[in-house]
Amino acid sequence: MPTPSPLKCFLDIPKNSDFPIQNLPFGAFKRPGDSEPHLGTAIGDWVLDLTILESSGLLLNSDFLFQGGTLNQFMAAGKLSWRAVRDRLQELLSASTPTLRDDSALQERILLPRAGVIMSLPASIGDYTDFYSSREHATNVGTMFRGKENALMPNWLHLPVGYHGRASSIVISGTDVRRPNGQLKPEEGAPVYGPSRLLDFELEMGFFIGPGNELGTPIPLRSAPDHIFGMVLVNDWSARDIQKWEYVPLGPFLGKSFATTISPWIVTMDALEPFRCTGPEQDPAPLPYLKGDCEASYDIKLEVGIRPAEASDVSIVSRSNFRYMYWTICQQLAHHTVNGCNMQPGDLLASGTISGSDPGSFGSMLELSWKGSKAVPLDHGEERKFIQDGDTVVLRGWCESEHFRIGFGEASGLVLPAI
Ligand code: MN
Repeated sequence: MPTPSPLKCFLDIPKNSDFPIQNLPFGAFKRPGDSEPHLGTAIGDWVLDLTILESSGLLLNSDFLFQGGTLNQFMAAGKLSWRAVRDRLQELLSASTPTLRDDSALQERILLPRAGVIMSLPASIGDYTDFYSSREHATNVGTMFRGKENALMPNWLHLPVGYHGRASSIVISGTDVRRPNGQLKPEEGAPVYGPSRLLDFELEMGFFIGPGNELGTPIPLRSAPDHIFGMVLVNDWSARDIQKWEYVPLGPFLGKSFATTISPWIVTMDALEPFRCTGPEQDPAPLPYLKGDCEASYDIKLEVGIRPAEASDVSIVSRSNFRYMYWTICQQLAHHTVNGCNMQPGDLLASGTISGSDPGSFGSMLELSWKGSKAVPLDHGEERKFIQDGDTVVLRGWCESEHFRIGFGEASGLVLPAI
């Protein structure tokens, strides 16, 4: 059987664009001077304004899903609505549909150059959880701090370990990040107060919750896909020295809560569906409430770049893949709610640092520099053990097929000196 030719958009979409008609991610943006964000989808080098499209009656059955400046309403509406909107957008943008293609006045109103808009947080994020679900990352960190014998804690292969993060300090890509001050503990003597000297990134991905669950009613593994809206890139900025002194016994706190950067466009699970794949084998077998579909991972290529203050380009320091994750996003959600904990539309759950087995795929400077014991080379003769003031850290992610690429854009942040 011949492969059907891929859907084509009437707009000129650059080859290798992150945002072909097969992607259609959702985000929030402002035109210069706007006070309230509008909601939109990215298509090639354009943004299609869904707030105006909806009020023009062109989204058909959509009912105030794209008003109010955040995607929470649309997230809450559930999978059937997400699919209906996606189908309608593909129809309107298709080369074979005249409605928008042949109406230049309408195009003028709803299509904006992407370079001319300012992205804002796509959702009002009520709660944020960060997991620790890469076996290689957990093993690397465990080896550095406890030795090879006890690298993985006894619970790690039985449940997706996580902690409650700070939602208020999640920022959109492009937001500057201030180096935090805090308590640092020298090898010898009393703790001191000052700027973190071991500032780090964590290469992660996160997923947004769609419809939530009632308090007291878990989301079973088989229903988890109905509650997952889509994914973004996440940089869980980490101050390793603050973290090291404070984390016992209750886990990460001020070493993490100063900033978390996310990419602006939420890529839907429907767009990622062609890139579903098998994750690592889970041995020992998980308990029944965590046991399900083994083809529940996604083949998403990831990379991290550092751009020093004076440089024009990023130097790539890590190349990784989301498929290395041991625990799946459905298992994370089922586990998070197994005690009856309630999720709400717009909650963000992040994967934990994604590291592969190859040292070039480690997802943090802590691992790349092996606790600062070796320098990581950048282009033009520079090197880093941790992140310096003036550095911009850029995360990128994309899925690739023969015909198109489903991209996430980037999650970037410039580090400013401590106050
Ligand atoms: Mn993390």
